[in-house]
Amino acid sequence: MKNIILYGAPAAGKGTMCELLIEKLGYKHISTGELFRSLDDSTEFNRSIHEKIAKGILIDDETTATLVKNRLNELGNGPVVLDGFPRTLSQAKLLDEFFENYIVIILEVSEEVALRRTLGRVNCPKCGRIYNIYTDMKPKQDNICDDCKCELKGRTDDNEESFKVRFNTYLANVESVLDYYRRKNSLHIIPSLESKEEVFANIKKILDSQE
Ligand SMILES: [Zn+2]
Repeated sequence: MKNIILYGAPAAGKGTMCELLIEKLGYKHISTGELFRSLDDSTEFNRSIHEKIAKGILIDDETTATLVKNRLNELGNGPVVLDGFPRTLSQAKLLDEFFENYIVIILEVSEEVALRRTLGRVNCPKCGRIYNIYTDMKPKQDNICDDCKCELKGRTDDNEESFKVRFNTYLANVESVLDYYRRKNSLHIIPSLESKEEVFANIKKILDSQE
């Protein structure tokens, strides 16, 4: 199976699709957000990244690419889905130095729908399961986790203002990134529908057509 670069606006459903790719097709997952959070303090390199994050300094493209490369080596063989990287054209070019045999899948979503989903997103503080009160990922019982019966909480960065900032950052980069992959013939655009099963079926179809 091909490696996947999953690209899309905030709340396009990348996290949910990654979960399904892992669960149903055995993909390994690299998310840059999670990579930054999970870094240990064992090397000078890692410590310097921790320091920058603590000071709110943006991590540069070269450093992020190195982290992704290191994690790829740790994961070994098997198909990988990349989530949150690359975000920019320069990151896309860096990635091509060490990542191959991939397709790029864009989950396309309008700003209105993305905003509504963002504001509807809640998760379980105990097991981390993500729900959305505006989609088919609603909990069975209002505001209660299906699995642990805990009360659900909203993500702290999910307000309208921070959504706008993240969405505009996405818009500022999307065309150059898409052009780059379009020219390489590796781009697949699919609509991010309300039903996660339908979206996943579309991803599966693309993967099957690559065999
Ligand atoms: Zn739970």
